[in-house]
Amino acid sequence: MPDRTIIEPFRIKSVEPLRFTTRAEREEALAAAGWNLFNLRAQDVIIDLLTDSGTGAMSTDQWAAVMRGDESYAGSRSYERFAEVVSDLTGYRHVIPTHQGRAAERILFHQMVVEDQVVPNNTHFDTTRANIEFQGATALDIPCAEAADVASMAPFKGDVDLDALEDALTDHDVPLVMVTITNNSGGGQPVSLANLRSVRSICDRYNTPLYLDAARFAENAWFIHAREDGCGDRSPREIAEEVFRLTDGCTMSLKKDGFGNIGGVLATNDDDLAARCRTELILTEGFPTYGGLAGRDLEALAQGLLEITDPDYLRYRVRTVAYLAEKANAAGVPTVQPPGGHAVYLDAAALLPHIPPHELPAQALANELYLDGGVRGVEIGTLMFGRPGTGGQPDEVAPHELVRLALPRRVYTQSHVDYVGEVIVSVASRAESLRGYRIAEQPRWLRHFTARLEPIGYNDPP
Ligand SMILES: *Cc1c(COP(=O)(O)O)cnc(C)c1O
Repeated sequence: MPDRTIIEPFRIKSVEPLRFTTRAEREEALAAAGWNLFNLRAQDVIIDLLTDSGTGAMSTDQWAAVMRGDESYAGSRSYERFAEVVSDLTGYRHVIPTHQGRAAERILFHQMVVEDQVVPNNTHFDTTRANIEFQGATALDIPCAEAADVASMAPFKGDVDLDALEDALTDHDVPLVMVTITNNSGGGQPVSLANLRSVRSICDRYNTPLYLDAARFAENAWFIHAREDGCGDRSPREIAEEVFRLTDGCTMSLKKDGFGNIGGVLATNDDDLAARCRTELILTEGFPTYGGLAGRDLEALAQGLLEITDPDYLRYRVRTVAYLAEKANAAGVPTVQPPGGHAVYLDAAALLPHIPPHELPAQALANELYLDGGVRGVEIGTLMFGRPGTGGQPDEVAPHELVRLALPRRVYTQSHVDYVGEVIVSVASRAESLRGYRIAEQPRWLRHFTARLEPIGYNDPP
C-alpha cells in the first residue's frame, strides 16, 4: 500500500523548465556573487530552497480569483472579500493589507514602540528585529529552554519561556509582546496552544497587548493538531481560529501560509491603533483598501488563506520536510529536531567542527551545497545574527550555525527532494575539506542579504 501521506495532493497543470549548470559554471557564478547566495541570478540555481516566501505555486482557484480582481482604487470588492476571509479566520476587527509582512511590522512598531522599550518574542525574525531596533528599542528573544538543544525531540520548541516573559514585563517597559508561529529563526518549531494560553494570561496580568507574527499559522496549527494533547480531533482550521482569538492582533506575511507570491496583512482589535496605522499606510503603502497590492493579489490571497488549512495539504507538507531531514540524518548530517514545518535546518556547527563560528561554517556549508548540486539554501547563523565587534572586540557570534533548506509550497516533486538528499550526502562525505569565510563588505542592517564574502585562503598562494 503506497504511503498516502507523502504523495503530492495535487496534479500539475503548468510547468516551468529547470536550467542545469555545471560545477565550473556555478563556481564562476558564486565568485561573481561575492560568495553570497543572495547575490546569485536565480537562473544559475537548479533547486531553489533559499526561501519558502513568495515562491509557492498558486492553485487553479487562485488563478481564477486573479481574473476576478477588482482594481478600483477605493472600496474594491476584492478588498471586501480579503477582509472578510481574514476576519472569519482570525476574528480581528481591523484588516489592513500591506505589500509584505515587514511593511505591517514597520507600521505597527512605528505606532507602538518608542526608544528604550523592549519587545519580547520567542525568537524575532530578522525583519521584526531590525524594525524594532530601528525604533531605538530592544528586540528580546525568550525561547523556551528546549529550543537551545537542537537535538531535543520536544514537540513544541517554539514555546515562549514564561518565566523570562514575566521577568521582561517586570523589569522593562514593554509596549507589546510578540509570538512567532511557527518560530522561523528557531528552526520552524511550533508553539503549543497551552503555551499561547499562558502567554495570554501573563499579558493580561500586565495589561500588555499580545500580537502574533503569524506567517506560518497553518503549519503551526497542523503541529498542534498532530502533537498536542486533546487536539487530535480538531481541524487545523479550528485550531488556527482559536490561536488568533487568543491575541489582540497580528502581522502576517502572506507570502508563506497565505499561498501568495506577494502580500501581507496587519490586523488588530484596537480601534485607535488601527486608525493611526491606516493613516501611516496611506503615507507609504497605499489607500487602506489595497495597501500596496493589486485587487487581483487580494483575491488570490483570500483564496490561498482558505486553501492553506486543508489537512491533506498540511500532512503532505510536513511529511516532505521530515523526509528530507531523515535523508540528511542518514548521511550523518544532524538537523534541528524535530523537523520544522517549512524547512530542514542542517546543523553546520556539528558537521564542520573545524570551522569556528566567526568563519561562518553555515555559509561554508550552504555554498558547498550550491557548488556541488546547484541547491540554494540560506545561512542562519553568525552572518545573519552575529554583530561586528566594536572597539577591537571579536565579532559577536550567533547561538547556532544552521543552513535552512526551505521548501516552496507545492513547487518541487518527490524526485527533486530525493536529488537534494543526494547532494547533502555528497557534501557530507567530504565535510573536512570545507573551508570558512571572512566578511569583506557589510552594511549596517540585515547584512546577510548584501554582504560580500571571501573564502579563507582563497587569495593565499597555493
Ligand atoms: C517572512 C517573515 C516575515 C516578513 O515577511 P515579508 O513578507 O518577507 O516581509 C516576518 N516574520 C516571519 C516569521 C517571517 O517568516
